Amino acid sequence: MFSIYNIDHMEMLRRRNAVQPHAMKKFRNALFKKAQDWDDALVLLPEAARADFKAHVQFKCLELVERRDSVVDGASKLVFRTEDDHLIESVVLRPKTGRTSVCISSQVGCACRCGFCATGEMGFTRNLTADEILDQVLQANRLLRAEWRMIRNVVFMGMGEPLLNLEHLFKAIDFFCAVPFFHLSPSKITVSTVGIPEAMIQFSEKFPGVQLALSLHSARQEVRAKLMPMARKYPLDQQRAALERIAQHGKVMAEYLMLEKVNDGEEDLKALEDFLRGLPVHINIIPFNEYDGSSLRGTPRPERERFASRLKVAGFDTTLRYSLGADISAACGQLVKEKQTHNGVMHDL
Ligand code: SF4
Repeated sequence: MFSIYNIDHMEMLRRRNAVQPHAMKKFRNALFKKAQDWDDALVLLPEAARADFKAHVQFKCLELVERRDSVVDGASKLVFRTEDDHLIESVVLRPKTGRTSVCISSQVGCACRCGFCATGEMGFTRNLTADEILDQVLQANRLLRAEWRMIRNVVFMGMGEPLLNLEHLFKAIDFFCAVPFFHLSPSKITVSTVGIPEAMIQFSEKFPGVQLALSLHSARQEVRAKLMPMARKYPLDQQRAALERIAQHGKVMAEYLMLEKVNDGEEDLKALEDFLRGLPVHINIIPFNEYDGSSLRGTPRPERERFASRLKVAGFDTTLRYSLGADISAACGQLVKEKQTHNGVMHDL
């Protein structure tokens, strides 16, 4: 068996069964652009070819084991099980703008151990394959079909550090953007990173149209290093140099999670302005999703709003994000952690 994402094998099957290119195109569109079920897509192939495709193609590589829907803001958290029995998360976001997004994982666990992240507490298990990355989006689309929605934006901001999984990340993005498959615009894909300078530059050269977002969270080296162990290895001067290189391809994005009495003071604001000055940058101010076991607290909304408006006044393109999915264990890795802790009481679909 091989997966529906294996282009060479699918082509081999097409030739072996003498399927005409236009029939194959309809079949591919049904699978990837319309997210139809396997049996519904199969009937678009000539009858004589169906058994061979059915016998040799694996329709999905992840098993959806839980779906949790927010009752307040339309977010849905999906937990998938890999074939080797690991759990990963994806989050479907239905913002009021109507552009449905999915936040996906790139690794099982994560080695970066950021202090504000439930996934970081799990440690690293393995990289996800390109198939497992792609399957999160395809399965999300299959669920969304019932609502007449399709994923418009893909965000690599779930479990794992995508730039530590470059091989599979590159393959997955190529597939997302390929015209015969998902045909997503590169500008609708965002990859968030803790900041691995060499990989950031390599990534932006290969995919200049894809948005790279630096998880900055502090422009004070000592604060950032406390929050994010990787910041000791890759300090702020290296981040700035990488951002300057990336800015040659367009605007850069800086993510700033606001943590009470950690990175939300006057000194922090000044350091942030100094660090980003002169760059074509968009700053996202993000609320912290608190979770059990973390001593960190989010900055209250009025202070977040003040911080964001000060940045705007200073001339920075700034967006204040609001929390989505707060009632469905919104923090990255939180739901998987809960399921691992309460092993055996999950609600299977
Ligand atoms: S925030 Fe991202 S990079 Fe940091 S530990 Fe969590 S998953 Fe890893």
